[in-house]
Formats: sequence, structure tokens, C-alpha cells
Amino acid sequence: MKTFTIVNRETCIACGACFVTAPEVFDYDDDGISFVYFDKNQGNAEIPGELVEDVLEANDGCPSGSIKVSNMPFNGDPTKFE
Ligand code: SF4
Repeated sequence: MKTFTIVNRETCIACGACFVTAPEVFDYDDDGISFVYFDKNQGNAEIPGELVEDVLEANDGCPSGSIKVSNMPFNGDPTKFE
């Protein structure tokens, strides 16, 4: 099953947890706001299988619920499946 992820940058509080949990997936800008490294936070890049567990852990650990995970691409919209 495919996995896609995207950060809702409107709600990210720049806590840094996801960079620690999944440093190969999430990066952060000058303000500390997270984004998905692979595809500039469009949520359209399939996450490599070996990184999926890290993404799910980051999703669980995000204090603001800003990390979205789906089996379908987000097309740049973190609220697409809400
Ligand atoms: S864990 Fe959540 S709130 Fe913290 S930096 Fe990552 S996306 Fe933002």
C-alpha cells in the first residue's frame, strides 16, 4: 500500500519533533516550520517503504496534529482528507 505525507504548515508549531523522528522525510524552514523534504510538501511523493514507520511515528508524536498521512496523494492540500 502506498503512503503519502504532508505537513499542515498553518498549524505546525515548530516543535522539532518530526525532524528528530524522521529526519529523512521532514525538514524545516528558517522559522522552524516543517515541510516534507521529498516533494516540497506537496504530499504527492510516495514514501519509500523503509521510511513509512518513521512517518507514522512522527504522525503519532506531532503535538499539533499537523502531519497528515494517507494512502492517496494530497496534491498540496493538507486538509484534503479531513
Ligand atoms: S512535530 Fe508537528 S508541530 Fe512539531 S515541527 Fe513537526 S509538524 Fe510541526
